[in-house]
Amino acid sequence: MAFANIRGVFIRGSRKALRNAKIAEIKTSANFCVPLKYGMASESKPLVSVGENVKKGSVIASPIDNSSAFIYSPVCGNVVAVDKRINSNGQESIVIEIEPSTSKASLYFKPIEEQTKSNLFGRLVECGSVDTWGKRLPSYKKYLSANIRKAQTLIVKLYDSDGFVYSNCFIAKNYAKEVALGALLYLKISNCDEVVFTVFDEQDKIVSQLKNELLNIGADLTKIRFYRISRKYPLDEEHLLAKIITRKTVRIEHNVEDFGVFVESAQTCLNFYNAVYKNEPTISSFYTISGNTFKNAGVVDVLNGTKALDIFSEFKIKNKEKFSSFALGGAMAGIAQVSFEAELPISQTSLVSFEDKIYSELPCINCGKCTKVCPTRLEPMALDTYAEEKDFGRAKKCGAEACINCGLCSYVCPAKRNLAQRISDMKDNIIMGRTM
Ligand code: SF4
Ligand code: SF4
Repeated sequence: MAFANIRGVFIRGSRKALRNAKIAEIKTSANFCVPLKYGMASESKPLVSVGENVKKGSVIASPIDNSSAFIYSPVCGNVVAVDKRINSNGQESIVIEIEPSTSKASLYFKPIEEQTKSNLFGRLVECGSVDTWGKRLPSYKKYLSANIRKAQTLIVKLYDSDGFVYSNCFIAKNYAKEVALGALLYLKISNCDEVVFTVFDEQDKIVSQLKNELLNIGADLTKIRFYRISRKYPLDEEHLLAKIITRKTVRIEHNVEDFGVFVESAQTCLNFYNAVYKNEPTISSFYTISGNTFKNAGVVDVLNGTKALDIFSEFKIKNKEKFSSFALGGAMAGIAQVSFEAELPISQTSLVSFEDKIYSELPCINCGKCTKVCPTRLEPMALDTYAEEKDFGRAKKCGAEACINCGLCSYVCPAKRNLAQRISDMKDNIIMGRTM
């Protein structure tokens, strides 16, 4: 398989099939490889060692600070390795490898007797939910660190920004009650005045289902709004979303939570619901399986650390000759993978496979297309040069931190330069340097 580590993959082919995507079951044959680091989060500390037996839902790693999460075993099995590897996000991370057993034993939380703000927050911390978009930090982090002037608006995204991803919409359609109850839990711990559900795909159906559920639950509808998004890409980044919903401009170097705006997704609402009402930790995430080389599109509840090869055994490739590569995280902002051994973490929501050729990078021809499309008015071409020279100071002065990882610059570049990937890595380095 061709090597690639790119964002902004161009995929021909219809996305309509996703609307009818069915939930699929996958049989897992390989060991589970659970990474202890997600995106910008700190690495969690392993609590198990080689040879130990673990139950499904038992804690296998704990946070070392507010930027890391509790991590739970996705299956019953035997720990066969705890070592440093390069994870599917391209970062070095400790990975706990578990060989599944046939046991069905599970270990879940004790029920919450009464839902108070503090024990709900405690449950959110312990459940190990990770933001499935944006910075990919533990879900509780924003409520903990927010220097809340006046908690105002909770936004719940019921769509995915990438045209090849359908996971949040699928959850909103099939788990409306759970999403409604999960959103009300977030409303309770955030003290926001209102919750705004943002919809893009299948708007009428989703709005009416959710309204019915909210009525059945007896929710206070004066605190609930629906906002129909008319153009979704790249209007998914939380600063842009906060601006169109609340008209508030939050500068990119600030967190929107510090200005009273919290952003969640259908997936994180479902995770919170499961932790409070079913006492289950977060051990899986809904993935959209799509792209122009699979015979069918589908949606799968993927256990943390499932290997990509198990997805490929269920979703067959149409034409092996044409198959080129696959990416985790969507076509625009996803990261293309080098191996079928790549593990699927709970911080992602899609696997997209494509047949288009991965071209080698060519030198920049100064066409200016990348600058023209950048939604945050950066100069990707210049930032790319600073990234290659590791001149982070200059990149910072030129606003590299404002990059929202949308992938548009890579998408339009005729020289096929991996601009977005390099700028995104550089941005992480700048932010880490600032926060350390
Ligand atoms: S540099 Fe601009 S176009 Fe490129 S990924 Fe960042 S925000 Fe998007
Ligand atoms: S789009 Fe590509 S080739 Fe054109 S200026 Fe930007 S980096 Fe250079």
